[in-house]
Amino acid sequence: MSKNAIIIGSGIAGLATAIRLKAKNYDVSVFEANESPGGKLSRLESNGYTFDAGPSLFTLPSLVDELFEISGEKPDENFKYYKKNIHCQYFFNDGTKFTAWDDQDKFINEITEVFKINAKSVLEYLDKSKRKYELTSPLFLERSLHKVNSFLNFNTLKAIASANNLDLFDTLDEVNRHHFKDPRLVQLFNRYATYNGSSPYKTPGIMSMIPHLEFNVGTFYPEGGMYSITDSLYALAKKKGVKFNFNSPVDRIICKNGVVEGIITKNEEHSADLVVSNMDIVPTYRKLMPDQKAPEKTLSQERSSSALIYYWGIRKQFPELDLHNIFFSGNYKKEFTDIFDHKKVPDDPTIYINITSKEDPEHAPEGCENWFVMVNVPPNSGQNWDEMISITKKRIISRLNKFLDADIEKLIETEEMLTPITIESKTSSYMGALYGAGSNDRNAAFLRHPNFSSKIKNLYFCGGSVHPGGGIPLCLQSAKIVSSLV
Ligand SMILES: Cc1cc2nc3c(=O)[nH]c(=O)nc-3n(C[C@H](O)[C@H](O)[C@H](O)COP(=O)(O)OP(=O)(O)OC[C@H]3O[C@@H](n4cnc5c(N)ncnc54)[C@H](O)[C@@H]3O)c2cc1C
Repeated sequence: MSKNAIIIGSGIAGLATAIRLKAKNYDVSVFEANESPGGKLSRLESNGYTFDAGPSLFTLPSLVDELFEISGEKPDENFKYYKKNIHCQYFFNDGTKFTAWDDQDKFINEITEVFKINAKSVLEYLDKSKRKYELTSPLFLERSLHKVNSFLNFNTLKAIASANNLDLFDTLDEVNRHHFKDPRLVQLFNRYATYNGSSPYKTPGIMSMIPHLEFNVGTFYPEGGMYSITDSLYALAKKKGVKFNFNSPVDRIICKNGVVEGIITKNEEHSADLVVSNMDIVPTYRKLMPDQKAPEKTLSQERSSSALIYYWGIRKQFPELDLHNIFFSGNYKKEFTDIFDHKKVPDDPTIYINITSKEDPEHAPEGCENWFVMVNVPPNSGQNWDEMISITKKRIISRLNKFLDADIEKLIETEEMLTPITIESKTSSYMGALYGAGSNDRNAAFLRHPNFSSKIKNLYFCGGSVHPGGGIPLCLQSAKIVSSLV
């Protein structure tokens, strides 16, 4: 008889874990608090506009393909995506515009022309980025850091031996300033700290491996938008026999004598041979297992940044914009000091705009665009968000008016919002953090909660708040690690 597994939550990691355990012959049931799957990877409809509500940048699609392959299905028949020819359009405060092309020759031509830098220096940086990624990924991303045999693995030893070349002891900003003299290039490559919700002035230089994924591997767009990832994985899980229970918030994980026995939802007990929580690790301990001793040091780690997002239906098209667009602030250091030290919304934030109607025109009415406008902000610690929402909106509009020579306010015909408070209420993410614990600490990778409980047998954890971290690729890795540990 098959063993049965219960997954709490159907975020990307919950869906991936369900598919992986099903492929291992478990009888799998998912209990999800919301009425639909996806968690942060969800969709929003408003007055004829369709928005991807959460993640917008898609890297390492092979990790999604793999879920179809292990389930005996052809990925390209079930989930379609393509490589983007432009990674991002950059707009600097001094008026500089830069297109980050995927094609390496075009990219090198553009970067050398705009920033008057020699090609060798850029290629050297990207090469180092690649080496850092290849050395550390088998150690930090692909396995449980917390099992003894991980440390005895050859790749692990190799990585540790090379620690001096991994820039673990400088900050990302120091690494970038050392390599690039032009402050605009430093700002551009410092931006990668935000991919895990941290500050380039605090996060270790090893994060300079992230550009490798973009510039050497590529950025991708799933046909139909990011929500297609959720849609296609949900369809795959259902097809393979995973049972989904929506509107079913789990209230308790039942543990007896150090062994997990099941869960309670809506006053009903459901027994299980193993339970995987895809809920953020902090409320998993505080709300679902209040009687168990919590790992306080792990849970008290600083959270990653959060975001204010304005979903605007825009009654015009802007040919100078692409799928991903960045409008940099004038003082990047102050922006991150505001976020992480003063815990306030920056006065002059960097603005990110994602426009999926550039790829899928049906996401906006004819002649219009669906703008997902995001600024990084601190996680919620009681700030006056109502006030910040309207002040920040004015600041964003005034800066975009200058950059785009337009009157944006007049073009907004529909508006929806996401704030740290609503991120938490919709997905249970502690303090509304986008990526769980932050990575401002050099030891952050080692301090993240493992994918298993060392106290309670058969209890596992996946998702952005546990090892190896937040973001779609890492959440997918967490599911893979859980499945290998089971
Ligand atoms: C605005 C925004 C932008 C982002 N941009 C990017 C990006 O561009 N690229 C990228 O890779 N990543 C990005 N991220 C991060 C990425 O979205 C997350 O790391 C990832 O989606 C988290 O997935 P997860 O599996 O941890 O679960 P979550 O998405 O956090 O979902 C958890 C699920 O568990 C459910 N749940 C919680 N508690 C219970 C309970 N007690 N009972 C039942 N169900 C429960 C919730 O309802 C939810 O559905 C972004 C995130 C946000 C919010």
